[in-house]
Amino acid sequence: MKGLESLFKLIDELRKLPGVGRKTAERLAFYLLKSQRGEVEALARAIIELKDKVRLCSTCSSITETDPCNICSDKNREKNTLCVVEEPHDVFAIERTKEYKGCYHVLMGVLSPLDGVGPSDLKIEELLKRVRDNGVKEVIMATNPNLEGEATAMYLQKQIDAATVSAEEKILITRLAHGLPVGADIEYADEVTLSRALEGRRKY
Ligand SMILES: [Zn+2]
Repeated sequence: MKGLESLFKLIDELRKLPGVGRKTAERLAFYLLKSQRGEVEALARAIIELKDKVRLCSTCSSITETDPCNICSDKNREKNTLCVVEEPHDVFAIERTKEYKGCYHVLMGVLSPLDGVGPSDLKIEELLKRVRDNGVKEVIMATNPNLEGEATAMYLQKQIDAATVSAEEKILITRLAHGLPVGADIEYADEVTLSRALEGRRKY
């Protein structure tokens, strides 16, 4: 519509957000239009600040404002247990269970040959280096229980085995127990299911 370019520009931007269709984008845009200037500014600032401040932890690749992240720098966390997840939001899902006391390693994706995602696109070298150099005793595979997640966990298990053949002590590699709905995302699992999956993890 001519003469309302700024409104339609905002609607277009909002529609790019996940789960936001045209109707929702319009509703949000009209809501913002009616809001106080201060409120709108606070929202805009929060978005910019998020992009300026949040980055990846250089150790585990989870998201953080300080490097290393709070988990990696916490002396009370077990440094010899690593939980391997696909994305930073999976760390938050597992942290919500309050069950896990080890550290994490975020792969930043999952192996997916069809989408052209290979081992070098993920934080796999970094994981192998951590496992080799830091006296890691257990690696918990917490990739999603779907085809790609399973294949990635299996690939990692072989890589870790190969990278640590000379290690004095064999590294224990475990997979989250089932009970997690197959095909579901760790991110959306409820705390109870996720706690049980952690407790009941089994050896490869
Ligand atoms: Zn970290």
